[in-house]
Amino acid sequence: MNYYSLNKKAPNTTFEDAVVRGLAPDKGLYFPESITPLAPSFFETIEDKSNTEIAFEAIKQFIVPEIPEDVLKTIIEETLNFDFPVIKINENISTLELFHGPTMAFKDVGARFMARCLGYFNKTNTKDVTVLVATSGDTGGAVANGFLGVKGVNVVILYPSGKVSDIQEKQLTTLGKNITALEVDGVFDDCQDMVKQAFMDTELTSKMQLTSANSINIARWLPQLFYFMFTYKQLKSKGKELAFSVPSGNFGNICAGMVAQKLGLPIKHFIAANNANDTVVNYMISETYNPKPSVQTISNAMDVGNPSNFIRIQELHNNDFDTLKANLSSYSYTDDDTKAALLELYNDFNYIADPHGAVGYLGAKEYLKEHDAHVVFLETAHPTKFLDVVEDVIRKSIELPPQIAAIMDEEKVSIPIGNYDALKSYLLH
Ligand SMILES: *Cc1c(COP(=O)(O)O)cnc(C)c1O
Repeated sequence: MNYYSLNKKAPNTTFEDAVVRGLAPDKGLYFPESITPLAPSFFETIEDKSNTEIAFEAIKQFIVPEIPEDVLKTIIEETLNFDFPVIKINENISTLELFHGPTMAFKDVGARFMARCLGYFNKTNTKDVTVLVATSGDTGGAVANGFLGVKGVNVVILYPSGKVSDIQEKQLTTLGKNITALEVDGVFDDCQDMVKQAFMDTELTSKMQLTSANSINIARWLPQLFYFMFTYKQLKSKGKELAFSVPSGNFGNICAGMVAQKLGLPIKHFIAANNANDTVVNYMISETYNPKPSVQTISNAMDVGNPSNFIRIQELHNNDFDTLKANLSSYSYTDDDTKAALLELYNDFNYIADPHGAVGYLGAKEYLKEHDAHVVFLETAHPTKFLDVVEDVIRKSIELPPQIAAIMDEEKVSIPIGNYDALKSYLLH
C-alpha cells in the first residue's frame, strides 16, 4: 500500500517511508491511497475469531508486503497481549475499557505497534531514528514504554511542566535508557508547535532522521481501528445498531474508528465528546474551522485547540460537510459537567470512570436523547491516572494498580527547556 500526503505536494510513498518520516516532505499528513472493504463474511463470523486474527485481517492491506505477513502477525500478537473488555452501563450504553495495557492508556496499542514496526525497519537501517513527541499526558508514557530498549531509536518527549498528572509525569520521566523527557515551560500547544517547528527545520532534519510518534504517524494511528472491531465482536449478538462516543483531543482515535467503518464495520454514528476545547464542535455548527489556543481542563489529554487528525476525517468524508455531518456529532462539556458525570456513573451504576471516559459518557447520553442505538463510550485511561480528581468527586480512595505503584517511588529525571532554540541545541548536542 502506498500513502499520499494530504497537502498533495509530495510524492506518494511506501508504508516504511511514511512511518520513518512521520510527516510528508510537504508537511502534510499521510493517508492510504485506498481503503478496500473487508468481505462481508469477515463480519458475519467475527465472533469466532481471536483479537489477533481480527487485527491482522483488518490492517494487513495497509502494511503487507512492506512488513511480511509472518512478521506482522508477531507484531500484532506482542502489541495486543491484554484485554479489551466491554462493560455494560445500562440498557443503551456500554463502555469499552482501553486501559488494560502497560501504561493503562489506550495509546499503548498504537505506541507498541509503531515501535515494533520501526524496530523491524531499523534492522536494515544504519542511521539512528529520533522519535520526537509532544504529549498532553498519556502519549508520553505509552510511547516511552512502547519504545523502551528498541535498538536504533532514541525517544525525546516534550511535556508541559505542571500540566500532566503525577502518575503521567512519573511514567515518562523514570525510564531512562533511550528515553529522554524535556519539561517545557508552557502548555501542550507550545510542545506541539516546537515539534512541528523541528520537523520544518531543514538544518536539523539534514543532520538527523526525525520522526513523530503522535497520531499523525500512520503506524500509531491506524492500529486504533482494532478497538471498534473488538467492540462489535462483543456486542454483535445484541442486534442493535452501534454508535461510538469517543473522548477526543487530536481526533486520531475517532478517525481510526471511521477507517474501521470504511472497512465495512457497521457503525451508525460517531460522537466526538470534547471538553472545553471545542474547535470541532464549533466547526460542526458553523462550517468554519477556527483553531484556538488550548485551555486546561481535568481531562487534560484532550486539551487540544487544533486537532491534527481532523483533516484526515475530512478526507474520509470526501471533504464534504454534509457527508461528515451525517456521520459525526460533536459536543463539548465543562469540568463541572464532567465531575457530575463521574459521580453519576459511580452512584447510579457503580462504575468508576476517569474524566475522559466521563466526557464520553456525556456524549453518549446526549446522542441518545434524539436517536436510537446502543452507544459505546471509550474509556481511554484508568481512573487512578487522574487520582486527585476522581477521589475528590466520588469521595472514596482507589488503590493503585501494580504497574502504577511500581513507578511512583522512582526518581523523576527531566531536562527543563523554555523555547525552540533550547530544543534544537539539545537535539544537536
Ligand atoms: C490521547 C487521549 C485522548 C484523545 O485521543 P485522540 O486520539 O487524541 O483524540 C483521550 N483520552 C485519553 C486518556 C488520552 O490519553
